[in-house]
Amino acid sequence: MKYTVITGASSGIGYETALAFAARGKNLILTARRKENLDELRSRIQQFHADVDVVIHATDLSIAANAFSLYESLKTYEIETWINNAGLGNGASVGDQNLDKIQQMLHLNIEALTILSSLFVHDYASVKGTQLINISSSGGYTIIGDAVTYCASKFYVSAFTEGLAQELMEKGAHMKVKVLAPATTETEFAKRFFDLEHFEYSGVFPKFHTAAQVAELLLKLYDGDKAVGIVDGYTYQFELRDPIFPYLSL
Ligand code: NAP
Repeated sequence: MKYTVITGASSGIGYETALAFAARGKNLILTARRKENLDELRSRIQQFHADVDVVIHATDLSIAANAFSLYESLKTYEIETWINNAGLGNGASVGDQNLDKIQQMLHLNIEALTILSSLFVHDYASVKGTQLINISSSGGYTIIGDAVTYCASKFYVSAFTEGLAQELMEKGAHMKVKVLAPATTETEFAKRFFDLEHFEYSGVFPKFHTAAQVAELLLKLYDGDKAVGIVDGYTYQFELRDPIFPYLSL
């Protein structure tokens, strides 16, 4: 039995991606902190796809030790695809930002993603059919004012993932490494970004995708040969591309 791991599956893009992979008959390992949301998602999936196995692992990935123990706890499963989707944003100017929240964001967006990507590549790079997909942002290719630290964390995700994709291609590894860069997407993200109880996307953003639409884009990236799937932040057109950052081989 092969499994797809999705971090941050309790809401938004991760939740819809779990439904989209389940519809393809993929067995799932789902993680996030809110176990009750993951339980609800598992019940929903098993109502429609009784043959899909759904494993749940509730953990806080802003703590590095939890990223290591999550990976260790999955050693008995054969993993086909790993999707690092869990992420947190923050909207504030650098001088005014809440450094407790920023530390949590950097630990989650950068540290956990690096640990989990590295461990998965170490074990599976030579396995045919495997994929690592990391979720960046259009803010991982364009810096947005009052979200500079979040964007910088996503530039890291884009650069790390593109670089890893190139490195593995050069080595002739079987694993494909890809980065998805969505633009504004209607999820719980904005609530957390602005520290609000409630947030309505309509009326604030002239355009945005739904999480289900972004899950469809992720499937296009998954099915294709290109390493980058990026949404244009103005037109909302989706493009599959080769790596964007300059890359130099040693
Ligand atoms: P979301 O609805 O807030 O989902 C974020 C997911 O990450 C949730 O499942 C959340 O679950 C999990 N998460 C947050 N902190 C965590 C922690 N400390 N440990 C473990 N899991 C944690 O937002 P989303 O829009 O779907 O975000 C998914 C990804 O898309 C993120 O990487 C985000 O940066 C990226 N993105 C979003 C947008 C957008 O406009 N929405 C645009 C571009 C890129 P728990 O709270 O249950 O832990």
